Amino acid sequence: MTSRFTRMFPHAVTAAAAAVVVLILLVPGAIADGTSVPAPPAQPTSADQIQNVDQVKTAIKAYYRDTVTQTLDPINGTVLLHTYSPSGAYANEMAGIEADAAKDLDKEATHDKKFSGTPAVLFDIDDTTLNTYSYEIYSNFVFNPTTNAAFVNAGVFPAVFGMPDLVQQAQAEGYTLFYLTGRPISQFAPTKGNLVAVGYPDVPDSQVYLKDLTAPWLSSCATSTPVCTTTQYKSLTRQHIESLGYDIVANFGDQFSDLNGGFADRTFKIPNPMYFLP
Ligand SMILES: [Mg+2]
Repeated sequence: MTSRFTRMFPHAVTAAAAAVVVLILLVPGAIADGTSVPAPPAQPTSADQIQNVDQVKTAIKAYYRDTVTQTLDPINGTVLLHTYSPSGAYANEMAGIEADAAKDLDKEATHDKKFSGTPAVLFDIDDTTLNTYSYEIYSNFVFNPTTNAAFVNAGVFPAVFGMPDLVQQAQAEGYTLFYLTGRPISQFAPTKGNLVAVGYPDVPDSQVYLKDLTAPWLSSCATSTPVCTTTQYKSLTRQHIESLGYDIVANFGDQFSDLNGGFADRTFKIPNPMYFLP
C-alpha cells in the first residue's frame, strides 16, 4: 500500500531513498566499517565543505563525556585537568574494540596458530595506551612541544579506557609486549613510568621504542627530506623487531600512520577524533 505522499511525489521517494544510500556511503562511520568521517577537501571552495570547528570541539567533548578532575595542570598548577568518563561513548567504543581484540588474541594463542616467530603484540602510546585528552583540552587542541613535554614529564596521562586489561591478557597468553611511540627518546623514563603507574606491565627497556633517529634501522630515512615520516619510522621499527625473531601478531594505533607499512599480521585502529598525524 502506498502512502498519499508516495502517490503524489513518487520521484521524491526514490530521491530520498537514493539520498539515504549516498549518505551512508559518504558517512562510513554510520555503517561501522572502521573508516573515518571523510576529511574536508585540501583546497575548499566553499565554507560548507568544512565542519565548524567550535561544533567539532563540542562534539569531541561530548564523545569523551568531558569530566573535570581535581588534578592541577603540571605547568602553572592553576588549571584543573579534564578527562574522559568511563560511562561515555569513547569508553563504550573502546570496550567494543578491546573485546574483539581480546577474542582474537585468545584464539590465535590457544589454537596452535603457526607464528613466523615469537608471538608479539605492539602498542602505540599516545591515545592508544595513554589518553591525552587532558592535554588537548588544556591546550585547546593546539600542540605545543614545550607544554606537551611538561605533561609527558609529569606522567599525568590516564590509561586509555580498558587497555591495561587487554595488555595484561596478551602478556598472560604469552605474547611479548612492545610499545612504539613517536615521542622523542629524551622522554623515555617518564613515558615508561606513566605506563607502569596506570597499570601496564613493566617490560624490559628493550621492548619500549621511542624515536631515536640514530637507530641503525632508521638509517634509510634519517637523512632524507622529510626526515622519517611517521609511517617510515614505525614500519622500519616493526621490521627491526621482526628481524629479531618476533612475529607481530597485532599492532594497535590511533593513527593510520601507526598502522600502515606492514610488519604486523593485523591492525587495530583506536578512535581519536582530536588530531591527525600524517
Ligand atoms: Mg598515538
